[in-house]
Amino acid sequence: MSYASEFSEIIECLKNNESLKVKILELIESEPIPGKVIEGEGRLEALRIILADFFNGKWTVEESIQEVEFRLPRNYSPHENNNRVFPQGWAERLLRTNISCFYNQAVLMRIIESGSSECYVDHSSAESADSNCSKNLAGRTHDASMLLDRLLKAYREGHWNKDVKIPDHPHCTHTVQPV
Ligand SMILES: [Zn+2]
Repeated sequence: MSYASEFSEIIECLKNNESLKVKILELIESEPIPGKVIEGEGRLEALRIILADFFNGKWTVEESIQEVEFRLPRNYSPHENNNRVFPQGWAERLLRTNISCFYNQAVLMRIIESGSSECYVDHSSAESADSNCSKNLAGRTHDASMLLDRLLKAYREGHWNKDVKIPDHPHCTHTVQPV
């Protein structure tokens, strides 16, 4: 398996896809990661390190969530009193969103670089059937450039809109694959 068919397979797939892992690590170092949760001294840098450690297999998702809580503590944030910036489960939301973003961005870029225009999104064993992405993305092929554009707009430029995208929400477990 060189590509994950859902979120839970990402680390296993990267064991067999070193070049994809290298690409993800390059993106983690260079891409902007907008968001109020990571505003404040050292927080963005700490998140980049945690994400790189996760993709290198150093920590599980659960351990990485604990690292986020430990290295990006709420009480050191300029927004510490804002419950909308720090909702219940904020560390897990931040971590899972970014794992999904970086993995899917790398796969979409690779698909497009290879000259292909289509990608496939499988159903996930962890999806909720009524979610937007389960209904509108899963189980079919899509234009890879469209999904990449939407990902970049939302998660790199910070312009959120309701277009269905990958990831579509913080607990989205869908992934893109080459067709
Ligand atoms: Zn989803």
